[in-house]
Amino acid sequence: MPSRPIYLDHQATTPVDPRVLEAMLPYFTDCPGNPSSLSHGYGWEASAAVKYAREQIASAIHAQPEALLFTSGATEANNLAIKGVAEAYFQKGRHLITVQTEHSAVLEPCRYLQSLGFEVTFLPVQPDGLLELSLLEQAIRPETILVSVMAANNEIGVLQPLSEIGAICHRHQVLFHTDAAQALTKVPLDVAAMQIDLMSLTAHKIYGPKGIGALYVRQRQPRVRLAPQVHGGGQERGWRSGTLATPQIVGFAKAVELGLAAAETEQPYLAQLRDQLWRQLRSQEGIHLNGHPTQRLAGCLNISVEGVDGQALLLALQPKVALSSGSACASGKTSPSHVLLALGREPALAAATLRFGLGRLNTPREIDQAAACAIAAIQALRKTPSAQWVPG
Ligand SMILES: *Cc1c(COP(=O)(O)O)cnc(C)c1O
Repeated sequence: MPSRPIYLDHQATTPVDPRVLEAMLPYFTDCPGNPSSLSHGYGWEASAAVKYAREQIASAIHAQPEALLFTSGATEANNLAIKGVAEAYFQKGRHLITVQTEHSAVLEPCRYLQSLGFEVTFLPVQPDGLLELSLLEQAIRPETILVSVMAANNEIGVLQPLSEIGAICHRHQVLFHTDAAQALTKVPLDVAAMQIDLMSLTAHKIYGPKGIGALYVRQRQPRVRLAPQVHGGGQERGWRSGTLATPQIVGFAKAVELGLAAAETEQPYLAQLRDQLWRQLRSQEGIHLNGHPTQRLAGCLNISVEGVDGQALLLALQPKVALSSGSACASGKTSPSHVLLALGREPALAAATLRFGLGRLNTPREIDQAAACAIAAIQALRKTPSAQWVPG
């Protein structure tokens, strides 16, 4: 078989771990029951599997299982958290706070709410991608109902200070939502200690299947009210109707279990690969690291390259290395990433960006090959005249 490109796009999605697939398989065939069909053994079996999975995933974030509801992924969880809180609390206030570097699955629901008459503050970040906490505190008003700040950024990997943000939100009695799609199993998440009221999760960034995620909704002190966004059979206590996807839920829980069990060795390994990659790339002139040098995910390296066109660079790398310029949803476009612009990067430099997303199956040899390919492509493109992004 001809060798395929080295996969370095793990922030976009990950392969399903074979042990996850194995755990899922019986629930496609031998155990086909609907977890809501409690009149026979097939239903009981599925219901028990979902119950066990819910307990495992909840314990990974130090939550009670009944505070976790399953969704189709983090996009849906973010939509439910933001629109569901807005709809339930609009009589208390109509102001929300988020950050300019959030995923579009947070920014777009917020913009939608603006179109309905809500006010949203999109906080800037510091050049290293971290939120300035005094700005957050100043932005909170009596009518603020929700603060949404992601745990780990999907483009630059920067980790926001969740405990500090949680403390500020609770001091002002404002609900705190965090999109933890990239953080689950990779950094400690504790909804109790960090005073988090809502948390979005997804399976496919942690070697689980696509199409399954969850939303944590605090049940005590305070009990968060949420207006459902999908109405129907009343599954998930009415929060989110629709037949539960037993195989995906079982796979999600297995991925969490494996991720937690491996974290202690895997995260240092990924950090080592990332540092190896950066050492080689930084030997070249005009290559800039994006995001905080230490407060970030182990497996993420985001760089901007002077004097080249970003699309041309990705195209040149594509036969050998599979990576992207940033968010998977935005990489079809040629415009520079909103995250890098928020860091204050010049548009031309922001448009020439590579995000290396490393995963547990990558080897040191692959990293050397990827670095060599990137350096060769950058040197070749720099020799080509006028190969730079021009604002259009
Ligand atoms: C991938 C991702 C999402 C979207 O998750 P889906 O499960 O694909 O809907 C949302 N937020 C962040 C930070 C992500 O990395």
